[in-house]
Amino acid sequence: MRLDGRFSEVFRCGDDSGESKRILQIIAAVFSGMVGGIVVADPDGIIKMVNPAFTVITGYSAEEAIGQNPRILKSDRHGPEFYKTFWDSLLSQGKWEGRIWNRRKSGEVYPEWLSCHAIRNEDGEITDFVALFNDLSTVRFSGAGVALNYPFDRLSGLANRATFYSRFAGEIVRKSRAGRRLALAVLDINRFRNINDTLGHSAGDEVLRQVGARLSAHLGGRDRASRIGGDDFHILLPDVEGIEDISAQADKILSLFDEPISAGGGRFFISASIGISVFPDDGASAETLLKKADMAMHKAKEAGLNSFRFFTDELGRAASVNLMLETELRRGLEEKEFRLVYQPRYCLKTGRVSGMEALIRWHSPKRIISPLEFIPFAEETGLILPLGEWVINEACRKIARWTEEGAPPPEVAVNISTRQLHQKGLLDIFKGAVGRFSLPPSRLAVEITESGIMADLADSVRVLAGMREFGMKVYVDDFGTGYSSLNYLKRLPIDGLKIDKSFVDGVMTDKNDAAITRAVIGLGHALGMTVTAEGVETREQLEFLRQSGCDEIQGYLFSPPLPAEETFPFRNTENLALLWP
Ligand code: C2E
Ligand code: MG
Ligand code: MG
Repeated sequence: MRLDGRFSEVFRCGDDSGESKRILQIIAAVFSGMVGGIVVADPDGIIKMVNPAFTVITGYSAEEAIGQNPRILKSDRHGPEFYKTFWDSLLSQGKWEGRIWNRRKSGEVYPEWLSCHAIRNEDGEITDFVALFNDLSTVRFSGAGVALNYPFDRLSGLANRATFYSRFAGEIVRKSRAGRRLALAVLDINRFRNINDTLGHSAGDEVLRQVGARLSAHLGGRDRASRIGGDDFHILLPDVEGIEDISAQADKILSLFDEPISAGGGRFFISASIGISVFPDDGASAETLLKKADMAMHKAKEAGLNSFRFFTDELGRAASVNLMLETELRRGLEEKEFRLVYQPRYCLKTGRVSGMEALIRWHSPKRIISPLEFIPFAEETGLILPLGEWVINEACRKIARWTEEGAPPPEVAVNISTRQLHQKGLLDIFKGAVGRFSLPPSRLAVEITESGIMADLADSVRVLAGMREFGMKVYVDDFGTGYSSLNYLKRLPIDGLKIDKSFVDGVMTDKNDAAITRAVIGLGHALGMTVTAEGVETREQLEFLRQSGCDEIQGYLFSPPLPAEETFPFRNTENLALLWP
């Protein structure tokens, strides 16, 4: 357990001895693991600390609560008399205990059992108020005897729902602070109703008792699982690494059913279905995770005997890849493992290089990774923003270097993904980079896909117009694969279209591809744009494009994307004309 620095602050425990540290660690564990809410306030009643259960019960996060007066929780159910008694008792006897109605952040009024203590120093001055409370609205009353604080299910011996989910919520808070994962497993006994129907309810109860015992023995405690009702068990897997690890843990739980059960005078085998959801991949709240784990459990049931399923198989598989990829991407960024390669675009009329496209490569320790593998994921996690900013700056740095070397490229285009395009301040990032390297903005261009533009058309118009005004060129990338709404084209400030490689691939073999390619060229020209064909690999394609009036080509036929040092011949536009037949 990590020692929370604030404990020593709040409890003013200055000495560093091992013993005090140990005591603080114990307090920290109790504080964060408790099912009940805890509030620590200063002598003026200002909240200075709350535990995770406080947030679960009241709905206020620690950030929202700290610095406030506990009055934020006050309901209108008690008159001034009530509070007078409360304070009299707290100040004269150092304690007040009883039932009180408070109000959650959501506005809901609920009953709680509150125990409030005034802490005094040796001089008798109050230094702190400590309040401990339990949410009575979640406690079930059984008959005449009130099972007020009994946190376990009497049949299975496992945690009850309130205990389990308050622990679960606390665990979510801790995992999100630590940037780690946890999993929720929903386990349902297959054909449990049959057992009840054929062997009777007491046999059914015996089965539930034994399942509870096996679970708590396996999990090493009874508060990591809960029987929620009937034969529905919820299990917290707090320390999970990746999907393989979670799968292994689920397998182990299923293997608890390898041994037969003795109940109702017989011995028989039962099986279970488990559904699993993962925090934060499948959701950040207990409610969402439960819903998804439950859906997964129903899928597992369809599959039949003893089996488990992730929220979706695809999700499960993707999550395991994503898990590694996200950590790896962050590390790659820190370790500066990204490089740009450059692919020239040629003018079909002159045979000269008309510009270059900067394409990112990830030199991870194991291999060079294609952007097709990590851009979508970087986009999803938001890592595309720092990555994209790096690309812009790096491209500008190279343009400046090449200019110094006496061979500036006519123009370098960078690819901008959807999220980047609509981020705040993209234009400022360009302006900053161009200014830093004292470049004319016309040396820079952007390539944006149709889907990126359509994601927010109004915003796209604004951003692209800004770029053009600044002096940069704007191209639509992979044209023809997206919406292809002709309507937006005329509204947008665009300099050129890049015909997607998939059409270029088919121009010699597929009538439709040839027709679409010609149509795009005609359309672009009608709107006053240049048209570039991407992925040109053969002489035949080149001839077709030339005859169709295409302006520029890009592709392996003349050059693959190359590292900056190897692009010199392509920047030397005079030489390039010689490559021409
Ligand atoms: P794109 O912008 O359409 O880039 C063209 C892709 O086609 C590049 O793949 C290029 O290497 C490849 N290519 C060019 N000529 C040929 C050819 O003749 N034959 C074949 N088979 N392929 C050819 P790459 O570099 O793997 O990039 C893939 C996509 O990743 C790019 O498609 C672009 O959408 C994205 N991307 C690349 N770099 C960046 C970046 O810095 N930022 C962002 N946001 N996206 C990037
Ligand atoms: Mg591109
Ligand atoms: Mg493209």
